[in-house]
Amino acid sequence: METLRGNRISSKTAIGQIRIRTERPIRVQPVPVTDTQTEIARYEAAVRQAAAELRALSERASRTIGPWNAKIFEVHAMMAEDVDYRSIVLETIEEKKLCAEYAVELAGRHFAEMFEQMDDPYFRARMQDIKDVTDRLLRALMGEHVSGEPDKPYILAASELAPADLMQQDRSRILGIVTEQGTAYSHASILAKSMRIPMLTGITINPQWDGHQAILDGSRGTLIVDPDIETVKEYLRLTAADAGRDDGQTDEPADPALTKSGKHIVLRANIGDASELEAASLAGAEGIGLLRSEYLFMESAQLPDEEDQFRYYKDFASAMKGQKVVIRTVDIGTDKPVSYLRMPHEENPALGKRAIRLSFDNPDMFRTQLRAIFRAAQFGNVAVLYPMITSEWEMKEIIRMEDEVRKSLLEEGIEVPAVQRGIMIETPSAALISDRLSEYADFFSIGTNDLAQYVLAVDRMNGSVSKYYDPWHDAILRLLTLTVQNAHRKGIPVCLCGELAADPEATARLIALGVDELSVAPSLIPEIRRAIRSCRL
Ligand code: PEP
Ligand code: MG
Repeated sequence: METLRGNRISSKTAIGQIRIRTERPIRVQPVPVTDTQTEIARYEAAVRQAAAELRALSERASRTIGPWNAKIFEVHAMMAEDVDYRSIVLETIEEKKLCAEYAVELAGRHFAEMFEQMDDPYFRARMQDIKDVTDRLLRALMGEHVSGEPDKPYILAASELAPADLMQQDRSRILGIVTEQGTAYSHASILAKSMRIPMLTGITINPQWDGHQAILDGSRGTLIVDPDIETVKEYLRLTAADAGRDDGQTDEPADPALTKSGKHIVLRANIGDASELEAASLAGAEGIGLLRSEYLFMESAQLPDEEDQFRYYKDFASAMKGQKVVIRTVDIGTDKPVSYLRMPHEENPALGKRAIRLSFDNPDMFRTQLRAIFRAAQFGNVAVLYPMITSEWEMKEIIRMEDEVRKSLLEEGIEVPAVQRGIMIETPSAALISDRLSEYADFFSIGTNDLAQYVLAVDRMNGSVSKYYDPWHDAILRLLTLTVQNAHRKGIPVCLCGELAADPEATARLIALGVDELSVAPSLIPEIRRAIRSCRL
């Protein structure tokens, strides 16, 4: 029995087998083999496994993100079975007498280079698909799914996890997550929390753990590998009690989020993708305070077109039946890359081309997104929110683009209702000039995850500096106060959609600061509603 201490991301507990998500070696070695038939059989088995995984993924994705977006996994399955790819692999094994891993690596490299040289951006983007498929075949060859029982839920252990990695997994089978890198403010952690998956970061992963039993204790922040029977029994008893508490947690969603003195704090949901919509309604969310539209872009194999986006946004607008749905334009960049947009390597991606900067750089993509959002506004109470704003000129440019889009829709006979415009206050400059920015907005939404990162000069994803990441720092509180004052002077409301809103110990203080609305993951709504209802203010 080995007990390790990590950083708590969510307080829940998981018991199960560890499955290590192996990092693909940078270079697979060309190991000589004599038994080529065994090597070919290993390759065939890897292809079967990869294709089966991808087809299962395609089926699941079709239910959550729609058949069109799920197509990519079917395409990947076909790539894994491709005859040209296969002939390069077989030739390397049979003629060069090298191992299957190297043969797959070589075939992958060959096709990736071929796609990279193509002029058509669509085909160039396929390079990433080839890399993904090669990666999956290599993982299968390295026995990633062989040691654990594939059908059993597992605790996922990885050195690092991007939100896209998490979205590709079958969520119902992930009992818990442990990673070496990342913090509570990394997007993968935010996603895990909203999916109610117990998670720890800051744990040094030992590859030998693959297939071993473990207990992930989210409230103590510990991972117990190979626990003894008494410890397992104790935890089973605790998790049963925990599950009981969870059931009771769905108190009356109809209870309004009123403080003891009767002040109404609007409580909305932060949403990553459509699968969380039902949970938001069940929890009694008063609308969606933050729809992170970039998740649709990350789940798609290519730039989602206007119709895809329109259908996606319209579903939220209709489902929320007149309650506000705040759609944030894409916040792509840093730990949320997409393969089909050319995103050159940046030394400091958090200070680089992300969010609104990327939208400005891709005006067609930006116009398409605005058209889809405005059209969806015909079906509900839709608002648009702009991320990473730092200056007034950006708002002027946004309003110019909005007007252009409105005009073109009108020319096509599409009359668009008024759409409220929100500004994310998540950079120090936005907070400091919030008096001026209030002239361009119908509401503010404070993103404390980024605000803390930029005010305190501390990477929100770097666990080694997390002790410097303090959302309660005086500098941040002063900026929150300033933002609320400036907004109220202009008569516009302030929502807080960063993770600070999801901390029940912060609720009373945020209400005291004058924040009007809170937006949190659907699973946390009952807890925050209780915190609001017990607040004396
Ligand atoms: C934030 O920065 O607080 C925020 C809500 O946006 P994201 O976490 O998606 O960057
Ligand atoms: Mg942000």
